[in-house]
Amino acid sequence: MKIKKDEIPDKVKKIIRVFQKAKIELFVVGGSSRGLLTKHRIEDWDFATNATPKQILALFPKNSFYQNKFGTVSVVMGKNKNDILEITTYRTEGRYSDKRRPDQVRWGKTIEEDLSRRDLTINAIAINFEIRNSKSEIRKIVDPSGGREDLKKKIIRAVGDPDQRFKEDSLRLLRAVRIATQLGFIIEPNTFKSIEKNAGLIEKIAWERIQVEIFKLLSSKHPADGLLMLFNSGLLQHLMPELIQGRGVDQAKHHIHDVWTHAIETLRFCDSKNPVTRLAALLHDIGKPVVVQGEGEDRSFHNHEVVGAAIAKKIGLRLRLSNKQLDKLWRLVRWHQFAPDENLTDAAIRRFIRRVGKENLDDILSIRTGDRVGSGVPKTSWRTDLFKKRLVEVQKQPFSVADLKVSGNDVMEILEIGPGPEVGRILKQLFEEVEEDKERNKRKYLMERIKKLEG
Ligand code: ATP
Ligand code: MG
Repeated sequence: MKIKKDEIPDKVKKIIRVFQKAKIELFVVGGSSRGLLTKHRIEDWDFATNATPKQILALFPKNSFYQNKFGTVSVVMGKNKNDILEITTYRTEGRYSDKRRPDQVRWGKTIEEDLSRRDLTINAIAINFEIRNSKSEIRKIVDPSGGREDLKKKIIRAVGDPDQRFKEDSLRLLRAVRIATQLGFIIEPNTFKSIEKNAGLIEKIAWERIQVEIFKLLSSKHPADGLLMLFNSGLLQHLMPELIQGRGVDQAKHHIHDVWTHAIETLRFCDSKNPVTRLAALLHDIGKPVVVQGEGEDRSFHNHEVVGAAIAKKIGLRLRLSNKQLDKLWRLVRWHQFAPDENLTDAAIRRFIRRVGKENLDDILSIRTGDRVGSGVPKTSWRTDLFKKRLVEVQKQPFSVADLKVSGNDVMEILEIGPGPEVGRILKQLFEEVEEDKERNKRKYLMERIKKLEG
């Protein structure tokens, strides 16, 4: 396998050079050595060394810090998040007291020792570089568990005994599925069987760590296939059991799939890259199995978007989404059922924009695209296209209480009342009436209306 030299950014070369000068061993490991051997973009660089955290800090006195007790030193090489590079002292892991974190981390002596406690063979490859005249050359590749061979065969395999590895740290169950999804690899049968067997252990893992993996899976190129793998491995049952309720729940005419398959297919064809939007696509019909009534042609799912929004929020809370992400998820599920009718008034379109939120309009349209293609109908329709145009147009004509042909002063004079919430209430009522029909925005008409709105 060849490595393109220009794939190593300057910030990485600088780090390698510092270690080279100090004559201390340093390897590129983890996702970055894996990425160097495949065509995948490397987002974050991981390094391993036999230097202790103290020694690493001394190598970068001005721009490094030590955050945790696991031997990882962060070196700041620029302003962005990706410019923080992590260097970890070789580890060897002893006993494990629970399924969350190793209870004991000891420094390892050799890179081989360090690689043996890593999760997957393709993540247990270490590459040592030498920088000469600002060019990088490979000096050594250490690959004790056949990671390169598995990369070639596109196989995900646990390092060592899978049962033992998944029991030591059960997040590895999910990492295996996430990385298989990202790379489009197949999980080797023994490892897969072990995931099925140990799937329940994922419940011991902190949801914050689970969220990281789920978001990486959702952000990958083939998130729908990832979800199917999560289901087939038995992990989904422990993460989002609500989704599985949709299996075998058939839908009325217009739909070719059951609720479960429709959820997967909507995710597949949702054309947003945002992981929260993709999660909303997956969960948009999550209320259907709860509210389903009737059979065959008479089947209905009344209120499923209301019930579904509440369930989606519960799932979002479980996954430790931020308040902002939760709000987005809730709105997208709550309002996904809009009908892009050509006869909608401007007011109705404005109401829709207010409910969904301007910043979420593209997202809800992406979910609609997924929803349509995932139901076996064309990507769009003339009505949907018209609706999209009107969403843009309506926003170009700002219309607020200030545009009414009467003011708060008029209200106070006519009703002989002083300033207070009543004035605002009446203006809001008038505004809503005018929004429904712009013809009503005439001074004389509104003055008459004010008299009638008293009390
Ligand atoms: P990404 O490209 O998303 O960063 P990654 O494989 O680099 O993927 P990291 O979380 O950055 O994932 O971890 C770096 C490396 O540390 C992994 O490749 C693996 O070798 C090791 N590692 C991470 N988590 C575990 C774990 N739970 N058990 C064992 N080894 C792990
Ligand atoms: Mg990484």
